[in-house]
Amino acid sequence: MGRYLRYASLAGFLGFMTYVAYRHQVVGGGPSGVPPVDALCPFGGLESLYSYLKHGTFLRRVAMSSLLLFGTVAASTLLLGRTFCGWICPLGALGEAAGALGRRLGFKVDQRRIPHTARHVKLLILGVVLAGSWATGTLVFRPYDPWVAWAHLGGGLDEIAANPWGFAVLALLVILAGMGISRFFCRYLCPLGGGLWILQKLSLTRVERHPDRCVNCGACDRACPMGITVSTAGRLSNGDCISCGECVESCPAKGALDFRALGRKLSPLAVGIIGLGLFLGAYGVAKVSGGWRTFSPTSLEAKADPAEGIFGWMTVEEAASKVALPVEEFMNAAGISPDSPRDVPLKRMEGVDDEAVKAKVGAYLKARETSRDAKAPNPEEIKGSQTLAEVAEIYRLKPEEILETAGWPVEMAKEAENPLKEMAARVGSEVSAIRAAVRKLKSR
Ligand code: SF4
Ligand code: SF4
Repeated sequence: MGRYLRYASLAGFLGFMTYVAYRHQVVGGGPSGVPPVDALCPFGGLESLYSYLKHGTFLRRVAMSSLLLFGTVAASTLLLGRTFCGWICPLGALGEAAGALGRRLGFKVDQRRIPHTARHVKLLILGVVLAGSWATGTLVFRPYDPWVAWAHLGGGLDEIAANPWGFAVLALLVILAGMGISRFFCRYLCPLGGGLWILQKLSLTRVERHPDRCVNCGACDRACPMGITVSTAGRLSNGDCISCGECVESCPAKGALDFRALGRKLSPLAVGIIGLGLFLGAYGVAKVSGGWRTFSPTSLEAKADPAEGIFGWMTVEEAASKVALPVEEFMNAAGISPDSPRDVPLKRMEGVDDEAVKAKVGAYLKARETSRDAKAPNPEEIKGSQTLAEVAEIYRLKPEEILETAGWPVEMAKEAENPLKEMAARVGSEVSAIRAAVRKLKSR
């Protein structure tokens, strides 16, 4: 029974998420559109965690929903084991379906050919991806992410040509390798699986084998989609266990194998139902309480480069306002004909590629910034009669950062309309501190 519910759950989530991804391609994202896969992926929450804690902003395409999902998946792993992987994850479903297809076709690779230490590659990938994303402020795994590739299959050959690595990982490492070794990507490569591997080691719920009842038939080993040797374990401590219950359900010896949490026995069906309940319950509570937000109005990337805030679902008017340009100037910078409609999403405009628009407008804004920098006077010419607001505007700096660098109280930003010499007198400093601060900030 548990097995069939699990298959139905995996198929249901795979079908539903594929439908959502397709709708996103057709309708587009944005505050009233369909969310991108990144906003519905728990790993996006982990990748964005540092940015959110440090800057209060998510990475591009990620939103509060991803963080909530990651928190829920982490908590349920600690309580019940990796039920997300075993019962919910659509990519895991693809890997397991590939394994089933491979078995039917007689396409099987002996996993003993791969050294056991290869299973730790996913931890290495997790470390590299998190360090890279946290250091650069972008989703560095996205171009290689097979789930992102699956979600963009509707884009056809153009999409494959634009993102070849993700599609290569999907075709070769999830599906083809999965046909030889079930859940190949999960076992060896998935960075989220690497994170959950660590939490699984601390989980309260584990598979337990009772040697006095075990008949050593090896059915559990053959049934495990993660290739774990259950037949020699006691209380299973393997971080790769995904709480699927296949081993327990395939065991012919009554009472030889079960799930145990704090000494209490749990059936595979109960583990799955509680896991699904936690996942859907957390979503329901977030939805009802207004915490389920799949759209973030800004991102860390857009803070550094406003053009990163442009998306294909935006109209010309919305995109121009996002980068604070008059509509005509925006269209000129983006290479869009001035006669084009301004209230149609960029991705629906004939002959317009929203990624190219982003690149062109980004280049335009950078060139404009460089020319403004060249025209800005030497900071030594800042006068005490100028206000902090004027200085901030001329040098395109924030009043707060000037004050902080000058060693003046940041709260004085509220008085930015006052002349610098008056502000200097109030803090017992000199206007030269502001000149030095501007010089330092502009030389970054
Ligand atoms: S290991 Fe990764 S791909 Fe596999 S089920 Fe878990 S999260 Fe999904
Ligand atoms: S050990 Fe059992 S519960 Fe864990 S992944 Fe293997 S078959 Fe599933």
